[in-house]
Amino acid sequence: MAMITTENLFTDPVVGALRAGERKATALLHESLDAIEARNGAVNAYLSVARDSARERAAEIDAMSAGERVHLRLAGLPCGIKDVLAVDGMTATASSKILTGYQPPYTATAVQKLMDAGAVMVGKLNCDEFAMGSSNENSAYGVVRNPYAEDCVPGGSSGGSAAAVAAGMAPVTLGTDTGGSIRQPAAFCGVVGVLPTFGRVSRYGLIAFASSLDRVGPLAGNVRDAAEVLGVIAGHDVMDATSSTAPVPDYMADLDKGVKGMRLGVPAEYFGEGLDAEVRQAVEETIERLKAEGAEVKPISLPHTRYAVPAYYVIATAEASANLARFDGVRYGFRAPEADTLAQMYRKTRDLGFGAEVKRRILLGTYVLSAGYYDAYYKKAQQVRRLLAQDFVNAFAEVDAIVTPTTPTPAFRIGEKSDDPLAMYLADIYTVTANLAGICGASVPCGVSKDGLPIGIQILGRHFDEATVLRVGQAVEGLARSV
Ligand code: GLN
Repeated sequence: MAMITTENLFTDPVVGALRAGERKATALLHESLDAIEARNGAVNAYLSVARDSARERAAEIDAMSAGERVHLRLAGLPCGIKDVLAVDGMTATASSKILTGYQPPYTATAVQKLMDAGAVMVGKLNCDEFAMGSSNENSAYGVVRNPYAEDCVPGGSSGGSAAAVAAGMAPVTLGTDTGGSIRQPAAFCGVVGVLPTFGRVSRYGLIAFASSLDRVGPLAGNVRDAAEVLGVIAGHDVMDATSSTAPVPDYMADLDKGVKGMRLGVPAEYFGEGLDAEVRQAVEETIERLKAEGAEVKPISLPHTRYAVPAYYVIATAEASANLARFDGVRYGFRAPEADTLAQMYRKTRDLGFGAEVKRRILLGTYVLSAGYYDAYYKKAQQVRRLLAQDFVNAFAEVDAIVTPTTPTPAFRIGEKSDDPLAMYLADIYTVTANLAGICGASVPCGVSKDGLPIGIQILGRHFDEATVLRVGQAVEGLARSV
């Protein structure tokens, strides 16, 4: 790829142009399919591509009258879907061998809402196995490569979702975020990624990793398209009891209002040891420029931040060990051949079907939940979670949004951390807090390292205040475009 600048990380919004008939669905899909043809062999973002059905649907939408099209909020928008979400007629593997060939008989609500709004399903996207990872190296179907540097990781677990947008293989994708899996790959690949508030978007049809933390959200080449998609997928769903009945605001209404008069908190704990100098500089410069735009920048403290990674890896693994118990060779996908007894079949299926990281987490999670250790680990982690959530409540009494780096470093090289789970887990230091607290956030590109790797700024907001997060994100995008 050509040398990048912060400005050309962003793409022009397409959703409004499609609705207005200024862009053709077939032409846009053609661009995505061409990019897939040219680069998916190396980047490995898509696990499957539904060329024919996508072409058919795009042509159908182009054939509609302007009056019909305008009611479809995403008229003809090509979308890729992370392979942990069910789409009727497509396989859903969660990038695991244990779900080889599994075809869910229904469609996830978030995906159904996209389709009902006129989006075109392009295909299913690679990710870390069961969304467990920060580099996409844990996929049973091969590593995803960062489109800006193919020897580097795209981040994870929604690495395919981020890489696809960065490489032009879809203007918008869906990802999931349990501890950073939308925001971190968005930062590494130079795209926009939104973490909706817990309960904002239905998880019906999502293959669960850690149910108290999992969210579904959009990735896009610009903030406006991400906001359009969030507006479509958000809202209550009778099929998901954890989805909220809070009304969904119009995310477009205040998007361009800027940051003048807004109070932005900068937490000292997110700028400490371990933060790469170039990431620090890009984020600090962006904050300075937001200040010049009229934002009131306030130093704040989130004092329990250093306990977030350990608490996350206790809670997430505990919930994963319970959620993954259902993959037993009986109900879904792969079953190990040549077992003499039922118990042996279970054991062999899980031994052959799960990868090393997934097994590590099932073991860890089972351990922290076991009698005798429950109080020392699981219960204590839940108490820490409470303190972390309170840190944010206190901070949001004083500020409207919080700005931090999304990741401590730009994308690292493939293989660099794959033998060291602890180093890998520490890469999630700035993202896991929002999941534990239930709040919303986003990552928006704000710079490029001297090696040509994108850098992201994280914006965190109050529960159900995605509108403010998006508005700050739009201001950050505006700064990049005005350089
Ligand atoms: N990297 C984190 C983990 O490995 C987060 C993953 C996610 O958000 N799905 O658990």
